[in-house]
Formats: sequence, structure tokens, C-alpha cells
Amino acid sequence: NSSAVQYLAADEAEMMRLGAKLAAASEPGLVIYLQGELGAGKTTFSRGFIRALCHRGTVKSPTYTLVEPYSAGTLEIYHFDLYRLGDAEELEFMGVRDYFGDHSLCLVEWPERGEGVLPPADLVITIAVIGAGRSLRAHAGSEIGRAVLQHWHC
Ligand code: ADP
Ligand code: MG
Repeated sequence: NSSAVQYLAADEAEMMRLGAKLAAASEPGLVIYLQGELGAGKTTFSRGFIRALCHRGTVKSPTYTLVEPYSAGTLEIYHFDLYRLGDAEELEFMGVRDYFGDHSLCLVEWPERGEGVLPPADLVITIAVIGAGRSLRAHAGSEIGRAVLQHWHC
């Protein structure tokens, strides 16, 4: 009944597969923070996650738009990248709270930029560069997060 897991992804394809497997284990309302330096693989992971649930072909980095929306049936997926956010208060002006809830799944790159305004994470995934590959550490911040971690089989 652990609230933390670690995986290794040797290449981009494996990173996307980990994202897809997490998507399959996810539940509506889940908030996922993705941490790690530029180039760690946060967008790659998100791409695998989103492609597993949405049929739209391209998943682009939301670096300039702050958020990209996707539909998966009745569920919305919101992919945030807050790298270019000047101030967490800008998120208030965007009406960011409306994005979160049981109607959506949210993936957030650079969540530290939105501290104080973003809702807390159910799952925090920290990606680190290890040689040519990556390590992923995930920990649960809620009961839902813990349940999802237990179903995330890779
Ligand atoms: P971030 O969103 O964290 O800035 P990206 O997802 O854009 O990072 O990935 C940066 C680069 O890392 C891309 O070239 C991608 O192909 C590569 N990459 C992603 N995951 C892995 C992995 N597990 N092993 C090796 N390279 C990876
Ligand atoms: Mg990115």
C-alpha cells in the first residue's frame, strides 16, 4: 500500500508508454504535477498520457499558450505548462480554477510557478535525467492519488 513508486524510461517511446499506462489508471478529477528540468521529458510523458485517451493526433507543448485542452469523450484533459508564467496571480485572471474538477484530468508542467493558486496535486511526478534515459518518481498527495498509483502497472 505504498504512496510512492519509481520507474525508469530508457528512451522517448518508453516515456510515452509510461504516460499511457498512467492514463489508463487515472480517474476523473486527477491533478498531476510534473517536475523536472527543461528537457527532462515532462511533455513527452504528457503526450503519451493524452494520446492514450484522445484521438486527436498532435500534442504540442503548451509553452506559449500556458494550457492546451483536449477532449476524451465527456472528460476534458488540460495540459498546462507554466514555465512562462510571470506571476501565479495571472492564473487567477485566466479563471484557472474552472479547469479543475471532476470533469477534467489536469497535467501541470512547472507547477511551482503557480504555487498558491493551483489546487494541490493528487500525484507529483519528478523526472530526472539518468545517462541517456530518465527516472520517474511518483508520489501520491491524496487518497485518489494513492489508488491511481496502485493501478499504474508498467
Ligand atoms: P520537458 O517537457 O521536460 O522540457 P520534453 O518532453 O520536451 O521535456 O523532452 C525533451 C527531450 O527529451 C526530447 O528530445 C525527448 O525526446 C527526450 N526524452 C523524453 N523522454 C526520454 C527518455 N525517457 N529517455 C531519453 N530521452 C527522452
Ligand atoms: Mg515541456
